[in-house]
Amino acid sequence: MKKIYILVLFAFVVNYGWSQEMPLKQRADAFPSVVENSSSKSVQMASSVSEMANWNRYPTYETYLAMMQKWAEDFPTLCHVDTIGTSVQGRLILSMYIEKQTDDEMYRPEFFYSSTMHGDEVTGYVMMLRLIDTLLNGYGSNPQYTNLIDGTRISINPLSNPDGTYRGGNDNVRYAMRYNANYVDLNRNYPDPFGTLPLSSQQRENTAMINYFNDHNFRLSANIHGGAEVMNYPWDSFTTDENPHPDRAWWIDVSRRFVDTSRTYSNNHFRDTYSSGITAGGDWYVISNGRQDYVNYYHNCREMTMEISSDKMIDSEQLPEYWRFLQHSLVNYIEEIHSNDLVVGVNEVKYNNSIKCYPNPTHDKVFLSEEPLDDVLVFNMQGQRVAQLPASTRVIDMSSLPKGIYLLRTGNKIAKIVRR
Ligand SMILES: [Zn+2]
Repeated sequence: MKKIYILVLFAFVVNYGWSQEMPLKQRADAFPSVVENSSSKSVQMASSVSEMANWNRYPTYETYLAMMQKWAEDFPTLCHVDTIGTSVQGRLILSMYIEKQTDDEMYRPEFFYSSTMHGDEVTGYVMMLRLIDTLLNGYGSNPQYTNLIDGTRISINPLSNPDGTYRGGNDNVRYAMRYNANYVDLNRNYPDPFGTLPLSSQQRENTAMINYFNDHNFRLSANIHGGAEVMNYPWDSFTTDENPHPDRAWWIDVSRRFVDTSRTYSNNHFRDTYSSGITAGGDWYVISNGRQDYVNYYHNCREMTMEISSDKMIDSEQLPEYWRFLQHSLVNYIEEIHSNDLVVGVNEVKYNNSIKCYPNPTHDKVFLSEEPLDDVLVFNMQGQRVAQLPASTRVIDMSSLPKGIYLLRTGNKIAKIVRR
């Protein structure tokens, strides 16, 4: 396999410049096997919180719960644990919500990190736990962490697919798998703003996550994966040629900063897929029904996919080294939420192929600016179809629908409608 990469690398060096990079590596999740062979891994588990002290082990499920509980008890004025929901097998999907208790009315934007929706991609799981620990323990002594917590509400979900990670039982991650307990890929199971229906019904883990997004107003987020080392920014559903993300320049800047910072601590990383270490998702490999595009479209929240380790499951003793080169990039990415355009929220996501609707927002009726050639479908934020009207419909009565945001689709044209 490595020889092939070297040949591809050679071809790249000869033929391509920075802007026309060829991927050195297939997208990690393009052709997944159900269970990765992890028998050769050196996987040490921590059966107690104290055994996590050196951050060179993976926690058992019970240790993970105990760590979250302990932070909430140790830092009651800085954080609490949110239960996002439960998995198919009843495990908890948790987030550490870091928010300074205060009486002031200052606006603090909400940030969200979430990792390991593919259960065997566990590097990010430990990185997120260590990030929580670092931010909380650094408050009051480290100026960067203190400023960040004073000015931001930060939610960190270390493990969004616990059944996949603990497929082999709560005391081991060695038999982790990509999928949830129903063998569904959770990153192909979100409502797709661009019309593709998921192959499986919406999974319990994703319904919980969607409800969590609905209950919050996250403006910047990331979902963390493994199997490659590359910053993957929107869209996943299109190539840049087909439909560039309107914030593409901003995404390239942010992705570059993440990679450049990590390379100042270890120059060997973010090189296995593109020499630049960054890509638009669709330019690497187009996927549908992923979380990234769902979050960007439906929640007006900028989310990217961070692929942070070439191995999905690194040896446990490598975890501290990964932290060393990732920690500053991970903290700095949270700070990006304070970019002016994110804070004031002027940057509504724009789409090609939109159909105009008015008034929008509406209390009841909404008029379409052109006659649809196909059936008109209306979806709610959960991706459920709530109305289907014949082609040629020009007026939609939304008065019987609950208040909220809806997606209208006819043919390949789409619109986002707010019902007030
Ligand atoms: Zn993944």
